[in-house]
Amino acid sequence: MNAPFSATTLDGIRADLAAAPRLLFIDGKFVPAASGETFEVIDPATGQVFAHAAAGDRADIDLAVQAARRALDGPWSKVIPSQRARLMIKLADLIEQHGEELALLESLDNGMPFMMAKFAAVLGAAEQLRYNAGWATKLTGETIDPSWPGEYHSFTLREPVGVVGSIVPWNFPFVMAVAKIAPALAAGCTIVLKPAEQTPLTAVKLGELIAAAGFPDGTVNIVTGFGKTAGAAIVEHPGVDKVSFTGSTVTGRSILRAATGNLKRVTLELGGKSPVVVFPDADLAKAIPSAAMGIFGNAGQVCAAGSRLFVHERVYDEVLEGVSRMAAGLKVGAGLAPGTQMGPLVSQTQLERVLGYIDSGAGEGATVGIGGARIEGEGYGGYFVQPTVLTGTAAGMKVVEEEIFGPVLCAMKFGDGDIDAIAKSANESDYGLAASIWTRDMSDGLRLAKRIKAGTVRINGGGAGVDPAIPLGGFKQSGWGRENGRAGVEAYTEIKAVTIGLN
Ligand code: ADP
Ligand code: MG
Repeated sequence: MNAPFSATTLDGIRADLAAAPRLLFIDGKFVPAASGETFEVIDPATGQVFAHAAAGDRADIDLAVQAARRALDGPWSKVIPSQRARLMIKLADLIEQHGEELALLESLDNGMPFMMAKFAAVLGAAEQLRYNAGWATKLTGETIDPSWPGEYHSFTLREPVGVVGSIVPWNFPFVMAVAKIAPALAAGCTIVLKPAEQTPLTAVKLGELIAAAGFPDGTVNIVTGFGKTAGAAIVEHPGVDKVSFTGSTVTGRSILRAATGNLKRVTLELGGKSPVVVFPDADLAKAIPSAAMGIFGNAGQVCAAGSRLFVHERVYDEVLEGVSRMAAGLKVGAGLAPGTQMGPLVSQTQLERVLGYIDSGAGEGATVGIGGARIEGEGYGGYFVQPTVLTGTAAGMKVVEEEIFGPVLCAMKFGDGDIDAIAKSANESDYGLAASIWTRDMSDGLRLAKRIKAGTVRINGGGAGVDPAIPLGGFKQSGWGRENGRAGVEAYTEIKAVTIGLN
């Protein structure tokens, strides 16, 4: 599989990035940070700096929030819903037209395979906009029969929640950024978006496309910078009405605390430790590759990754052998190297974290069935780890309890027993983001689905793919609220009840 881009394009992008730092996008203009500071952007495949981005901080966030407020009260409030939808669809078209460049940037910046950047990230982003554009004209309140119908007439309105601070992580930088702004725009909000410091580049490019699409200045503002500075400034800003955050549970907790000042609305899409349950009657030809790519896809840097595999003892050996064979056969390499199926981890921090977990698993008695080591040498200067399967793992081990966010699968066995016992094991986690169940017996599948505490359950469904139409979010410490679907867009609205006295 050759990556279908011309070297000139990639060279052009590299030259562009080397020539000047990327800027902030505030009030429709590209500007440097008020401080003049920039930070380094590192290629995770080489560990080398290949770009710089403006280090936005409190002063820049303040300008961005002011611009978002002016747009909210001014020009954006006058854009009628069908026109909002039209702008969003225009942006989706522009994203597709610039798909090649966006995918190159995404792959360079994050390390994900080019094909994944193209299909999962860039086209996924365009679909987020098209799906949510449909809601712009369909969000509506309801008429309600009041308790004293003869005396009153009541109805509700759904109004935009206001200025939204969107904070996104580095694992799927572009689609996450777009998935945050799309429902907010549909609901009539304005936005200050902060990409992760590890992966700022495609968000900056998004600013260019937003300007080209014709959104009023200030509707979407994009401030690159660090979490502790720019991110914290968003969460603490009294002019921000809602924060929508995707990232780690630890950071989610600190965001919740920091949002108390003006009691911002907060949506949190956090970590996971999602179970994959394979019954003995499952279609293993489908379950095996799905279980493998559900943890090795994007090098396991997926919040809904299936990181705990529970397999019935009758098919355990077959499933483990299949998953291990896939792990060993995956072509690991730079995102832009032809044929790459799994890229590097995003950063040195992430590399150390993942290797630390593998060591800890071995220390607690797990067996490294396959993989388990860093990959180094020619072409592997960056943060590469082998796809890894740990066996002999059990509840209580750190590797089974904590989110590793790397290509590390913990495999466990279950025997004949009732659905409640399987559900109990699957639910033995502080997280509750997603779950997969593989069985041909739909009543078993459904009974287990109903008992599992997770926001997304798939029966015989592949991987951790995200559908803009299907709600996503967590039970327990995996988050607050839902993204995607009707619930996702309604989370950007306030309900106002209006009652008219009839006497
Ligand atoms: P990681 O620990 O892997 O970097 P995080 O959850 O901390 O993951 O980061 C996700 C996003 O949250 C990034 O955009 C990051 O800059 C931002 N962030 C980190 N810390 C804070 C914070 N204290 N306040 C606001 N945003 C933050
Ligand atoms: Mg962090």
